[in-house]
Amino acid sequence: MKRLVLLGGGHAHVHVLAELAREPMPGVQAVLATPYARQIYSGMVPGWMAGHYTLDQCSIALEPLARAAKVELALAPAVSMNAGERTVTLADGRVAEYDVLSIDTGSMFDRDAIQGAREHGLFLRPIEHFVQLYERLLALATDRLLNLVVIGGGAAGFEVALAVNHRFNGAGQERARICLVTGAGTVLPGFSPAVRERALGVLRRARVTLLNQRCIEISSGQVQLDNGARLVCDVPLLALPTVAPGWLQGSALALDAQGFVSTTPTLQSASHAEVFAAGDVASRNDRELPRSGVFAVRAGPALALNLRRHLAGGPLQPWQPKERSLYLLSCGGRRAIASWGDLSAQGRWAWVWKDWIDRRFVARYAEPVPAAEAALPISAERGRDAAP
Ligand SMILES: Cc1cc2nc3c(=O)[nH]c(=O)nc-3n(C[C@H](O)[C@H](O)[C@H](O)COP(=O)(O)OP(=O)(O)OC[C@H]3O[C@@H](n4cnc5c(N)ncnc54)[C@H](O)[C@@H]3O)c2cc1C
Repeated sequence: MKRLVLLGGGHAHVHVLAELAREPMPGVQAVLATPYARQIYSGMVPGWMAGHYTLDQCSIALEPLARAAKVELALAPAVSMNAGERTVTLADGRVAEYDVLSIDTGSMFDRDAIQGAREHGLFLRPIEHFVQLYERLLALATDRLLNLVVIGGGAAGFEVALAVNHRFNGAGQERARICLVTGAGTVLPGFSPAVRERALGVLRRARVTLLNQRCIEISSGQVQLDNGARLVCDVPLLALPTVAPGWLQGSALALDAQGFVSTTPTLQSASHAEVFAAGDVASRNDRELPRSGVFAVRAGPALALNLRRHLAGGPLQPWQPKERSLYLLSCGGRRAIASWGDLSAQGRWAWVWKDWIDRRFVARYAEPVPAAEAALPISAERGRDAAP
């Protein structure tokens, strides 16, 4: 019996679980170790913050998915691993031994990136913690006007600032002043000038104050910028660029300069062929891929295929996702900006499109396909297109 350990219930692993449910792997005993029983789909979090969705509508329940896949669920995060001994230690003290390991644990925020952020900041990750704290923030806003500062001018910061604005200031009310601090000299630095222009227009119309300075300190009731300005702030929401998980240090896995797992095009670790990694936690050694949910989702079928083939002793298939991808940035209300390379557009239709894509993604994993009566042996794997 071969032991497969899946670390993290991320975007790629929900697909691996669904594939295992659809077509079991005889002779393989699998465990999923992850801290929470559900995966809140980050793409829908701004929509939840804005009030368009319930949390259930944005969540994938991992327990039924694991059950359908006949994968044991261990609700604990990894705290360390030893690639030489092929073991992973979980926070509850259990040690999982593996023949094959797959890592899809995402990236995280450096809570000390800004002085005072650890004590006073409301971080967007872990999303499971964030959603509880955001609900408390909603309760605060009933009796006075709040000053909210969103720190981070990437896609998440942009969407969150507008979502908060819609939730607090929609329907003609004014319950919060919103400020977006980009720290990058511009909002949406990774996007085309046309998208940035659209984003500026949306922020202006929503009366979200945009400041391109860097935040250098957060203290009780205020946020300090690098130009000396101090902003009154009841709650700073942190949407900073993410960093690699610290528990990978000392694992003996090859890591890139930032500490992410260095992987080959087959999604295998550059140092340990029995270890796979996908999504934000991975860093390709042949090309740079953006850290985004889009690429984590796209990696799912390739990861499922290569795990299956590796366990069966078959040839692996390199994964080469297309360079360009569609991004749909929600703008608080039911409108969005669509970005495809240098092309862009915006409107209500773009939000309807995003809503459809996001709901479809979550629904796909809501009712796992039960194992087929006569499952194919792993050696009979058909060649599937691994690059959607
Ligand atoms: C508010 C917000 C909105 C976003 N919107 C978009 C968007 O619209 N489009 C887009 O492309 N990207 C978006 N992103 C970025 C996107 O969330 C990430 O790129 C994506 O989540 C990466 O997927 P992943 O599978 O690598 O990791 P994750 O989705 O982070 O999943 C990681 C999983 O691993 C688990 N885990 C964490 N640590 C451990 C551990 N030590 N041991 C075991 N398990 C662990 C977690 O609980 C989780 O189940 C958004 C991000 C945020 C914060």
